[in-house]
Amino acid sequence: MPFTKLQLSSTFQKTLKEKAFLKPTPIQEAVIPLVFEGKDIVAQAQTGSGKSASFVLPLLELWSQKRDTAKKGKIKILVLTPTRELTLQVAEVFEDFSKNLEKKPQIVHLIGGKGIGDQIYKIQQGCDILVATSGRFLDVFSKKQMDLSHLEYFVLDEADKMLNLDFTQELDLVLDVLPQKRHNLLFSATYPKKMQDIVAKIMHNPVVISVGDQATVESIKQRVIEVNAHNRAPLLRHLLKKHQWRLVLVFMANKRATDNIAQKFRKHGINAASFNADLEQDVRNETLQAFKEGKVNVLFATDIAARGLDIESVDCVVNYDLPRSPADYIHRIGRTARAGKSGEALSFIDYETQAHFKLIEKRSNIKLARESIEGFVLVGKAPKQAKGSAPIKGKGKSKKDKLREKLRKEKECK
Ligand code: AMP
Repeated sequence: MPFTKLQLSSTFQKTLKEKAFLKPTPIQEAVIPLVFEGKDIVAQAQTGSGKSASFVLPLLELWSQKRDTAKKGKIKILVLTPTRELTLQVAEVFEDFSKNLEKKPQIVHLIGGKGIGDQIYKIQQGCDILVATSGRFLDVFSKKQMDLSHLEYFVLDEADKMLNLDFTQELDLVLDVLPQKRHNLLFSATYPKKMQDIVAKIMHNPVVISVGDQATVESIKQRVIEVNAHNRAPLLRHLLKKHQWRLVLVFMANKRATDNIAQKFRKHGINAASFNADLEQDVRNETLQAFKEGKVNVLFATDIAARGLDIESVDCVVNYDLPRSPADYIHRIGRTARAGKSGEALSFIDYETQAHFKLIEKRSNIKLARESIEGFVLVGKAPKQAKGSAPIKGKGKSKKDKLREKLRKEKECK
């Protein structure tokens, strides 16, 4: 796709040409349109993927379209980064892409190690775009010299690197001072559990994009198999016989089910085990070790237990039950094809779950062909759609989201 397809005005097209950016990188192709759509975004992207331009370009475009006529700039865009170097780098990218604009934004960067007075003075002179390390940002903010009431866009860059810097506490303070109504963009090379907590604090229902590990995701053969729910276990046994997979990780929705099915598979002579949060830590360690050594071939696991599992050579991941969110889908299938190896990821769907899978595809920017396996073909009829759209699992608010919303509202009322 050329840059011309990305709704960027001729001024930016010109700058892109001058910089010899011929076509967008995958992260730019995914992020730029979503920023224009006003979506909250969580993007998993590595340094070097072109992520800076993926937010700088559309934010500058939106800023220049909407800029008001006031002489003094108001802070509309805030970017927080984990390091001084990255702060300077991002500010430079903003400067660089602004160079052909008729009216240029005032870009201020805040970093430690430099006189705070000068930085405050610059903000007071007018600032449209503020790029800062979180520590210095809070220092300046505590001096009550910064008006954030006009802020529209909040960007966290390389957010996973901030996790190490006691950032979680700082983030709470930052969020307290930002307007509730704003757009949020978060970039992170990895997506550990702690990051998901941070995402939940900052935004609701973000679009999750993953291109960081693209080579890996591309080397996963993703398949979707239509099968009736009661036929999933026989189909899985059939597939295990047919394929030469050594290690298969099967994801299920609930803990009891992982125990039950593992037991049934063992009765069929398959080296299977369950892995869930109810098991004693010792048992979990032993099971994992046995799986890594190939003494257990099929591991039935829940998401919680499997998060952060680092097993290099899982041959196949099976979504026996579909994951709740697109982020979980990417996380699950990422357990295979690690360290340059290839792998397969199968998802079982039926009439009940097809709408949910479509949503996962849409949000993950994928489209997969539906397969049927002889002897296990999906039978029956699709349930009649009730008037209006049917509720889709994962699309509505979860209990946790509702609780968070309630707590936030309570906080606002105080
Ligand atoms: P980043 O991941 O944002 O740090 O960008 C990494 C490098 O890629 C920087 O030197 C950018 O100037 C360059 N870059 C970003 N996007 C493109 C593009 N579409 N075409 C060519 N180079 C790019």
